[in-house]
Amino acid sequence: MTSFKAFWVEKNDDDVQHSVIERSVDDLPEGEVLIKVRYSSLNYKDALSSKGMPGVTRNYPHTPGIDAAGVVVESSNTAFSEGDEVIVIGFDLGMNTPGGYGEYIRVPAGWITALPAGMTLRESMIIGTAGLTAALCFDKLVRMGARPEDGPVVVTGATGGVGSVAVALLASQGFEVVASTGKADKHDYLKSLGASLVIDREQLGTGNPRPLLGEDYGHGVDTVGGDTLSNVIKSLRHSGSVAICGLVSSPAFSTTVLPFILRNVNVLGVDSVELAIEEKNRAWAHLASDWKVPGLEDMVVETDLDGLSAEVDRIFAGGVTGRTLVVL
Ligand code: NDP
Repeated sequence: MTSFKAFWVEKNDDDVQHSVIERSVDDLPEGEVLIKVRYSSLNYKDALSSKGMPGVTRNYPHTPGIDAAGVVVESSNTAFSEGDEVIVIGFDLGMNTPGGYGEYIRVPAGWITALPAGMTLRESMIIGTAGLTAALCFDKLVRMGARPEDGPVVVTGATGGVGSVAVALLASQGFEVVASTGKADKHDYLKSLGASLVIDREQLGTGNPRPLLGEDYGHGVDTVGGDTLSNVIKSLRHSGSVAICGLVSSPAFSTTVLPFILRNVNVLGVDSVELAIEEKNRAWAHLASDWKVPGLEDMVVETDLDGLSAEVDRIFAGGVTGRTLVVL
């Protein structure tokens, strides 16, 4: 019987406690592939699960971690063999299936991406769900026809995980990037990732009753929702698109039809969780080759399982910049 360390969240009514405990692989759910986890990462959703907030995890106690990268230990599916390096992102991992904050996970083969050539396990988890989502936003914009000559792409929540990777990826692909942030002391960080202009979060975050605003942006990547998203939509140039993936400010937004019928604006939804594994594999293959994100090591903070609880608190205090890598 193999025992392993896992981050453990217990919830009793409103009381949520964190600890690191010993578990056995026999405690893991049935599944085709047993993986020894080397790295995970901390995403906004992991913080929600770790705090017992509604909408992510139904049953506690629980081990969160929607991302995991590691090595196959046992597989009953011929698609994977012992020793394969693999990535697992999304589906139910870390939601109601014990996740990447344990040293072992057991999952269906259909959730697994073989680590693409040209990428390390460490790089895959610096990217993680947040970075994959940024890449999916980029992909949707490009599939919709976005080109650098359309004008600047605004990225909101820019110092966050999705935002940081979006800024770096878009800039490396030749797009001019305007980064919107609430962190006055992180302008140099965003410029180092490739932003050509950094604006204060309030500039887009304040509600405006006008149905259309100045055509400041060619396209957008929005992680914030609420008034910020409404203002991005109203500020897009003709035929501009905004890829929407997040809701850190609000899940609601309001707009008239005018940006759509007068400016031909497109709103593109992005979901990294239930996206078909073939689409995930395709994005990972790009991230390992022609979409290689520069500066990954400049956006990472590391923690181990013992430090996770404090990192979760930092997310809710708005203190996180870039990506948090969990080293197991
Ligand atoms: P992070 O916590 O890493 O970053 C969020 C950033 O948003 C912060 O760094 C901050 O950036 C900004 N922010 C925080 N609070 C507010 C606020 N009240 N108003 C405006 N801006 C705020 O989160 P992630 O980047 O991992 O995720 C971002 C969003 O995307 C989340 O809502 C998450 O749930 C969602 N998401 C969706 C996915 C999908 O598949 N659709 C996958 C991954 C994430 P700054 O200080 O620079 O303004």
